Amino acid sequence: MDLLNTLVEKGLRRELPTREEALAVLATSDDDLLEVVAAAGKVRRQWFGRRVKLNYLVNLKSGLCPEDCSYCSQRLGSKAEILKYTWLKPDEASKAAAAGVAGGAKRVCLVASGRGPTDRDVDRVSQTIEAIKEQNEDVEICACLGLLSDGQAERLRAAGADAYNHNLNTSEGTYGDITTTHTFADRVDTVRRAQTAGLSACSGLIAGMGESDADLVDVVFSLRELDPDSVPVNFLIPFEGTPLAKEWNLTPQHCLRILAMTRFVCPDVEVRLSGGREVHLRSMQPLALHLVNSIFLGDYLTSEGQEGRADLEMIADAGFEVEGADTTTLPEHRREGCGPCGSGDSGQSAPAEPVTNTGAPRTDLVAVRRRGAGTDLAPNA
Ligand code: SF4
Repeated sequence: MDLLNTLVEKGLRRELPTREEALAVLATSDDDLLEVVAAAGKVRRQWFGRRVKLNYLVNLKSGLCPEDCSYCSQRLGSKAEILKYTWLKPDEASKAAAAGVAGGAKRVCLVASGRGPTDRDVDRVSQTIEAIKEQNEDVEICACLGLLSDGQAERLRAAGADAYNHNLNTSEGTYGDITTTHTFADRVDTVRRAQTAGLSACSGLIAGMGESDADLVDVVFSLRELDPDSVPVNFLIPFEGTPLAKEWNLTPQHCLRILAMTRFVCPDVEVRLSGGREVHLRSMQPLALHLVNSIFLGDYLTSEGQEGRADLEMIADAGFEVEGADTTTLPEHRREGCGPCGSGDSGQSAPAEPVTNTGAPRTDLVAVRRRGAGTDLAPNA
């Protein structure tokens, strides 16, 4: 297919595809899916080989957020029956992080619900970063605390944070449909503050919120312009009790096309398969490893992921390898000092239900997290 040949050539040169080319990837048919995956896989291997970076989430503060992001189970007025707790103490967070590192994670993501941190919150997180680094000197730490105000990014950097995450989530044009308590521009501002402070920026999207393919292309192009080092791609987990609970409109095939499009637009960036992979890609997850070079290990903030061991087995079975702490994730030209890139079981067998890939609700696959951080139960890593 000419389109795919063009996109591979551009990806290998780190050249920006046109919007039309990116849209055309999302419009390809299921018959062409393996060709699309193979083409984007060439770009992935050029910049990241067969390595898969593992990341581990620690939810420092869960629920009770005053913001109204419609996709979020922690939002104002959410009826989702998630774990709710206030700030974990540094030693509790460090213990949670250690489980992820022991499972093979090289980055720990410290996340807190809320509009943004107070200066006291930044102190608290700084102590947590120090506690984690004392135990695991080499682990990368990414903070995700919401909108940053003056000096906070610099203080996090000084405390030893390596990166800061703040997602754009959706296109600028549809942002107001998803959230009313802050703007797309607020989010861009925080990513820029992180970059200015010398933190590696992590910013991504959520697909499956009722957006059009054009919106998906818009947000990925906005991300390319912002030039973060990592781009998490989330697929909406339609939590019961949130406004988007009925938005079951993704198929595994379309998820793969979205990941391929993201890889073509951001060829040399850490593209991270994030929340919703088990729910929407299901048995197709191994194919996604040909497109992304990074995943989360274990559970998510408020929902459960598949067993950490299953992730490791999937990576090995698909012919990939877990990226070690001694390997730098990004290609040389993107490392520090370089400029932005070139432009239940009953025991009885029941009759099988017909399975379709129409994006039909799979509420059976959404499990609220009840273990790990904020509980007395062991984490899943
Ligand atoms: S995404 Fe963040 S800011 Fe928005 S409701 Fe959830 S926790 Fe609050």
